[in-house]
Amino acid sequence: MPVINRHSHGEALNIITFNDNQINFNEEKLSQLLLHPQVKDREIAIVSIVGAYRKGKSFFMDYCLRFMYANFKSLNNSNLSSTSSWIGDKDEALTGFSWRSGSIRDTTGLSFWSDIFLHDENLAILLVDTQGLFDPETSTEENAKILTLSTLLSSSLILNLNNVIQEDQLQYLQYATEFASLASSNNHNNSKPFQRFLFLIRDWQNVDDFEFGMNGGAAYLDQILKSKPDQSEELKSVREHIRESFDELLCCLMPYPGKKVATSSDYDGRWSAMDEDFFNELRLLIENFLAVDKIVSKRVNGVQVTGSSFFEIIKNYIMTFST
Ligand code: GDP
Ligand code: MG
Repeated sequence: MPVINRHSHGEALNIITFNDNQINFNEEKLSQLLLHPQVKDREIAIVSIVGAYRKGKSFFMDYCLRFMYANFKSLNNSNLSSTSSWIGDKDEALTGFSWRSGSIRDTTGLSFWSDIFLHDENLAILLVDTQGLFDPETSTEENAKILTLSTLLSSSLILNLNNVIQEDQLQYLQYATEFASLASSNNHNNSKPFQRFLFLIRDWQNVDDFEFGMNGGAAYLDQILKSKPDQSEELKSVREHIRESFDELLCCLMPYPGKKVATSSDYDGRWSAMDEDFFNELRLLIENFLAVDKIVSKRVNGVQVTGSSFFEIIKNYIMTFST
């Protein structure tokens, strides 16, 4: 059987990288994406992922890419070819953002998929992967900057976490959203500063308390974000703040993917090697999260951005961060 290389029409572009706390911005490459003739006047949706390192972020985004290629036209691939299921052949190797790329990381920062997905006449969708957050070599300051920038850039932000939501991760998020709200400044209308947020919990173990998937996740998140009588004011205000920052807060509890996926060094990403319940939840989540009617476009201070206006806004953000 011929090898299908679905992703020959795109590559990962490291557009914003960090180096010893220095931010490097490839303005030229970002302009090629956002000022593309077919993108500059469209509304923009940016789906990005941040979080725990070596916990399947890129792996997840590559399955998202499969879904996008099967369901949307893109700049480099105008045929909606797929007649079979979007998830592809059971033994197809996983390509796209590079995943499981050894234990030594090369870059820290935000990496944009170079191909852009188009919907109708007025929406362009970009996927962004992040490297280096919360890994042992990344400083607290770098973590905070990456999370803040990702919050500013995304219309749908995924925070990928291992096992549970921890208090320090909520505090990080509070810090980032506070800083990001400041950077996006004068919000005169009453809209919340950011749009969609998904806590993606990997290797969830407490199925007796909360079931896998979005429903279990919603109940779990409710419990986490609830203010409790015996809670300190600080813990309460963190929760309040996170709730006030996003239009939509979601959570999904994912099963352990199975030994092959989690530990095998020669695993190529094929779904036939996944545990069945992981495979089912992965499909459901992606079909739900990336459904065209669920995709939200980016608003800044309550105003819908276009490719070209967002390009200018991002340049400003980067300037704020560089000083
Ligand atoms: P990233 O550093 O977060 O981008 O992680 P990668 O996507 O490169 O994946 C790192 C490793 O985790 C790979 O070997 C994947 O097969 C594995 N992996 C993918 N999803 C999961 C998951 O849900 N749980 C666990 N335990 N491992 C996973
Ligand atoms: Mg990765």
